[in-house]
Amino acid sequence: MAYEAERRVAVETVLKACRLCQAIRAALVSEETVAKEDKSPVTVADFGAQAVINLDLLKAFPDDPIAAEEDAAFLRTPGGGGLKTRVAHHVTAIMPGLTDEQILGAIDRGTWGGGPTGRQWALDPIDGTTGFIRGDQYAVALALIHDGEVVLGVLGCPNLPVDLSHPNGPRGCLFIALKGQGATMRRVDTPSEQPIRVAEIADPKVASFCESFEGTHSSHSRAARIAAILGVVAPPLRVDSQSKYAILARGDASIYLRLPTQVDYDEKIWDHAAGSILVKEAGGEVSDIRGQPLDFSLGRKLYQNIGIVATNGKLHPQVIGAVQQALESD
Ligand code: AMP
Ligand code: MG
Repeated sequence: MAYEAERRVAVETVLKACRLCQAIRAALVSEETVAKEDKSPVTVADFGAQAVINLDLLKAFPDDPIAAEEDAAFLRTPGGGGLKTRVAHHVTAIMPGLTDEQILGAIDRGTWGGGPTGRQWALDPIDGTTGFIRGDQYAVALALIHDGEVVLGVLGCPNLPVDLSHPNGPRGCLFIALKGQGATMRRVDTPSEQPIRVAEIADPKVASFCESFEGTHSSHSRAARIAAILGVVAPPLRVDSQSKYAILARGDASIYLRLPTQVDYDEKIWDHAAGSILVKEAGGEVSDIRGQPLDFSLGRKLYQNIGIVATNGKLHPQVIGAVQQALESD
């Protein structure tokens, strides 16, 4: 099977990062957060997860570049010293013997600019940082992009209920998608994988949709208008992170809307690479709000796309039509 070694390494390292995140989540204190450029909090888990995954990728695939969300610039400043110590503490608990410089160097291997040719990994060490802090959903998202196309996606959702209809039941899911091979889900604590499929719904009236918890990341009011056009009656499922793609891929919802709140925002490749292949391999469809395919070949961002629409596939034309209708009436 193509990309078999990549799949194995990606699954192992995302699981490792999930364990690090859960350990830190259990002991989260406010000093471990700093302001990020987009004002969302960065935690020690964010840097720690990126260090662990980059170290594993560099060991297994030393020539592969990595486009990852974080860099170590702040950790190298005097003001970042305390955070650096905490990151190093958690990383060396999993990977003993590393120096601070090896950890910072690994984090800084994520600065790849992206592009159209060759192999590159896209990593969001903690997607949904606000969900992580709130104790809601977050995801460790890793994808392999080859010649501009996503070929492997591994999404760790440590806090996602195994069964959404049993929110008090076991939590912690890992999703895997390999191009042309379908999508699977397993629990983070059990190796057996089950194939997953999108919902078979063809009537939007019985569909449910998910959107960002944060209204600054996706317009809730516009989504409500689109839902009304489609006749969707169920209330929106507001979920942080690429867990939305996972929820769609396993049939818990049939529509994911990401509607821009500012004209100049370009989506980042690590926010959509793993999630989009997961939905596609589970039988769904992913595009931007105009129905254009996502173009991962242009650099660190989806410069040619506007927003995101993901569906179970059957609903896609109707949802794109409703989105256009809502935008034209604005
Ligand atoms: P979500 O969990 O759906 O709220 O998405 C989280 C991601 O939203 C973060 O990883 C950010 O990269 C991204 N983000 C930050 N600002 C914006 C924005 N203005 N519009 C859309 N996405 C954003
Ligand atoms: Mg993100």
